Amino acid sequence: MTIFIEFIPNFVHFIGLNMNTEVFAARHIGITEKDLPHMLETIGVDSMDQLIYETIPDDIKLKKALDLPEGISEHEFLSHLHQLAEKNKVFKSYIGLGYHETLTPSVIKRNILENPGWYTAYTPYQAEIAQGRLEALLNFQTMVSDLTGMEIANASLLDESTAAAEAMTMLFELRSRPQKKEQVSKFFVSEEILPQTLSLLKTRAIPLGIELVVGNHETFQFSDDFYGAMLQYPGKYGQVHDYASFVENAKAKDIKVAVAADILSLVMLTPPGEWGVDAVVGTTQRFGIPLGYGGPHAAFFATKEEYKRSIPGRIIGVTKDTDGNRALRMALQTREQHIKRDKATSNICTAQVLLAVMAGMYAVYHGPDGLKYIAEKVHCCTKKLAKSLEACGFDQVNSSYFDTVQVKVKNTKRLKELAEKKGINLFYVDGETVSISMNESVSESDLNTLISCFLESHNLQEKSLKDLELDDAIPAGLQRKAPFMEHEVFNSYHSETELMRYIKKLERKDLALNHSMISLGSCTMKLNAASEMLPLSWPQWGNIHPFVPLDQAQGYQEVLQSLEEQLNVITGFAATSLQPNSGAQGEYAGLMVIRAYHESRGEGHRNICIIPASAHGTNPASAVMAGMKVVVTKTDDQGNIDVTDLEEKVVKHAENLAALMVTYPSTHGVFESSIKQITKLIHDHGGQVYMDGANMNAQVGLTNPATIGADVCHLNLHKTFAIPHGGGGPGVGPICVAEQLKPFLPSNPVVKTGGKDAITAISAAPWGSSLVCLISYGYIKMLGAEGLTNATKAAILNANYIKDRLKGKFDVLYAGERGRAAHEMIVDCRPFKANGIEVTDIAKRLIDYGFHAPTVSFPVAGTLMIEPTESESLAELDKFCDAMLSIRQEIDEATAGEPNNVLKNAPHTLGMLTNDSWDFPYSREKAAYPLTYVAENKFWPSIRRTDEAFGDRNLICTCAPIEEYMEA
Ligand SMILES: *Cc1c(COP(=O)(O)O)cnc(C)c1O
Repeated sequence: MTIFIEFIPNFVHFIGLNMNTEVFAARHIGITEKDLPHMLETIGVDSMDQLIYETIPDDIKLKKALDLPEGISEHEFLSHLHQLAEKNKVFKSYIGLGYHETLTPSVIKRNILENPGWYTAYTPYQAEIAQGRLEALLNFQTMVSDLTGMEIANASLLDESTAAAEAMTMLFELRSRPQKKEQVSKFFVSEEILPQTLSLLKTRAIPLGIELVVGNHETFQFSDDFYGAMLQYPGKYGQVHDYASFVENAKAKDIKVAVAADILSLVMLTPPGEWGVDAVVGTTQRFGIPLGYGGPHAAFFATKEEYKRSIPGRIIGVTKDTDGNRALRMALQTREQHIKRDKATSNICTAQVLLAVMAGMYAVYHGPDGLKYIAEKVHCCTKKLAKSLEACGFDQVNSSYFDTVQVKVKNTKRLKELAEKKGINLFYVDGETVSISMNESVSESDLNTLISCFLESHNLQEKSLKDLELDDAIPAGLQRKAPFMEHEVFNSYHSETELMRYIKKLERKDLALNHSMISLGSCTMKLNAASEMLPLSWPQWGNIHPFVPLDQAQGYQEVLQSLEEQLNVITGFAATSLQPNSGAQGEYAGLMVIRAYHESRGEGHRNICIIPASAHGTNPASAVMAGMKVVVTKTDDQGNIDVTDLEEKVVKHAENLAALMVTYPSTHGVFESSIKQITKLIHDHGGQVYMDGANMNAQVGLTNPATIGADVCHLNLHKTFAIPHGGGGPGVGPICVAEQLKPFLPSNPVVKTGGKDAITAISAAPWGSSLVCLISYGYIKMLGAEGLTNATKAAILNANYIKDRLKGKFDVLYAGERGRAAHEMIVDCRPFKANGIEVTDIAKRLIDYGFHAPTVSFPVAGTLMIEPTESESLAELDKFCDAMLSIRQEIDEATAGEPNNVLKNAPHTLGMLTNDSWDFPYSREKAAYPLTYVAENKFWPSIRRTDEAFGDRNLICTCAPIEEYMEA
């Protein structure tokens, strides 16, 4: 079978009885040798090579295979990662600074973190098949609102520092005194702020014209040109300040205040909401999320109800469904903040849903009393430590503290040596001060070892420290009185059996990749292989603080450096930064790097960013955040960039042209053949080319961003490179850059990283979300050069197969010059309006057939964008096509005058089907089992369609009692 050998040489091992069970590509790629003749025939080509020839323009096709090693087996990969894990040294890290060791409850680890029912789900845009994760996120929001004492919280942000920057910019947008807005641009930042947060605030402040003023909150005097302030609670080295009078003073001057707070401390401390602050942000990492050498972790963002329309990220809200039953969905314009494009104030798209779900479950499992126990234990440990060291003659600096103390020592050098010998990390503030943070994992014997390090390093004798007085370390005025988490959900599931069943109950309401194909265009919902995921649970990867000395993280360093090199090879670029925690953050990082490049050449005035009309909404939002002015260029009837229009705009703005942002293949799913002409045009006029790499799944091994003439791109590792979507995050959005941009790659203030003229931080952690980088590393390592390329070919094959199976029934809007789609296609649903059918009706009807809808109305309203990926089998592709064709027939049966039809009423719930009355003009069987395959694997949506308008009018974003929203 020669065709097959051409296609996937690895599969040669497959032939006959000799099935090679070690080839990962054969597990990752869904189609097999046997499927090819039929698929190629359906498409109308003789070979895979012909299809690729007809899909990718000749002048950008790679001449050589990827310069990467052969793939390795899953077994080999796992033992490789075991070996690398040994190179990470798991110390007791008391470094703090926003990261703490935590105990992930095993029931959460096994049933969520390691469960594809949770980690392979998509962002809950289709509420009817997402009630489980929506409820888990509502729990998270409620927990955050309660602990911070704020009215409303979102469903997570990327990390604490990013959340702080979002607060700074939100308050900037909301600043009062509009009559002299330009002059009110100063933002006070307490010197107690975490160093990584300060670095990130700098990055974000500069392009917006915000001037940061760092100082001591106790002595600082506001002048008229301040609009806001940011405080850290407790301070970076643990001092607990009473900010009440600062806030009062600021409010009197119409200055808005944000507080970055430690979530666990809020169990014991007065919540900032009680001072009347405007926003509270922070991380929920210490609620059961592994350190993971920096991430991923879920940050939180809480604010006042009155700012609800300005909140970054997504908010889950309560509404009702068609039958009036309680239903959850993403609320307000936060469903798609960046839809506002260049009017957007934030570019957050992917956030940290999986981690927020875990942190919320940690709160559900422990309940308010469990959290109090944990907080008190941590606090008590800290007091014991402080009092013991004081009893031994050391000076403890913090007059009040929750979990962190500062201790004066004679000689940090000696202490550091000894501590590291005993497997302990502290934070060394300066030559004679150390900062030590306690956490829930600290035991009595850990404390003793720690204290003995101090004694030994100062040649002091061991001492009995039995009856220490542990007087209050939190002043009476700062002790929390307000109750929290009183809702039933936080007071019901404290046994493992109960929580296990609660998690399962929610999981059952959701459709994830473990049920069926999720063909979301632009999102690349491919396999997240178990072998890629397994190492995430190992302590040598999970339990590493991001600020440990490099020699303790050699396993990580090897993985991260190799991943950077792998991505350099795949993109054709010179260097990579893994820091950005999402694609949108990558866009922002890439544009900031371009900005720094222009500045370095004395061309800092270049500030025009040209973006095609069809671009993803995050593109213009990121450009604005980077201080650029967006100029929109048209697309022609074929969906390509209108080169004449582009040329006009480039020439007009040549003087100030900073960059073009272009998605390739385009968001229309087409390899535009004029791409090289386009990138040259930009270069000829002094601009740089930013390529949005969300569609990289159509490029890997066949072409690359460097070849098309781009200078920088981001990659969505959570799309192309197998990191699961987690229901809306985590994400990793590294940027890969050409040589001239390399010096400007972002840095970190604590651990050196980035280029030689690095911009300040993009994310809090030096290498972003290191833990999940293991997944992409494994994906590339196991597929190898050939497997990666074959995955791309299979993705293109599958898309074109669907396109041709739907031919004649659904119009595909765009195609390349030779009639081929790339890895996705847009089907037009607008003509069905004549029958009264909207694209949403098709999306909802697909649920009855057991499928998640493709991408709805992006990039063209009234369409579906379908992307099958390489991981789906021919059988699954056929099921999906059968469903679409069956729906097409149902559309024909529908008439505009009669909205009581099977499409308009979709999805159909079990409640409808089993109701004694059935007044629909079609059978129950047609409603629920429209095709025979459905019966054997039926998915039942838990609600009917949600009422968006009702929910937006009556915004409730916490687990309020049911009566409350019904009356609203
Ligand atoms: C997904 C996507 C983005 C944004 O990526 P996030 O990781 O969600 O921030 C940007 N552009 C395109 C074309 C995308 O599909």
